[in-house]
Amino acid sequence: MNIILFGPPGAGKGTQAQYIVKNYNFFQISTGDLLRNATKNKSELAAKIEKITSKGEFVSDEIVNELIEKSISKLIFKKPIIFDGYPRNMSQVNHLEIILNNFNQKISFVIFLNVSREIIEKRILGRMTCSKCNLTLNEYSNSKEIETHPCGKEFLIKRRDDDKGVAISRYDIYMEKTKPVLDFYSTKEGFHEIDGSLKIDQITNKIDDILRV
Ligand code: AMP
Repeated sequence: MNIILFGPPGAGKGTQAQYIVKNYNFFQISTGDLLRNATKNKSELAAKIEKITSKGEFVSDEIVNELIEKSISKLIFKKPIIFDGYPRNMSQVNHLEIILNNFNQKISFVIFLNVSREIIEKRILGRMTCSKCNLTLNEYSNSKEIETHPCGKEFLIKRRDDDKGVAISRYDIYMEKTKPVLDFYSTKEGFHEIDGSLKIDQITNKIDDILRV
């Protein structure tokens, strides 16, 4: 049972993916994380990825598809996979189908977290991620948790692509380019839309309803 978690940047995909990983024993593949990891070394490719992601644009299918293929082939038969941030366009949809078919696997659920641009702006601008444990918090809604974070609050950092201009363009680019993907999956069995403006635990309850059938 593999899942695609779908929704614009800041919709809460990462948070809900962490919940599913922990409670349903999945592996998470996040193309955003794969790309951020790929920028950590000093190479021409790393510089290219950094340049594109810092503007909020999409990295080429060639690069993303190669990263995803490597991750899938490492993880596929060990646990089910939750895809976070992939596929983002129809070419990636087709590529994913081919890889999964090769492994005799399929997508069982596509969960769409639908959130307005206004809410996304606030969420993205306040978002901080721990560089040690990867926990994501928000400075507007988690001030207490930030102060008492076990790794130390100095490890909570803002992503470089989380400033206002980039946040808005990431949202717009996502909505524009990813609409055909949404249209494609929304007609398929296993598609569920959740109001992503709900509280985190209200969303997890809805995810439980979907996955516990
Ligand atoms: P995310 O963490 O999913 O918001 O991704 C961060 C950035 O990585 C995006 O704004 C894109 O620049 C890039 N990215 C992530 N996933 C993809 C993808 N599937 N295709 C192209 N670019 C991607």
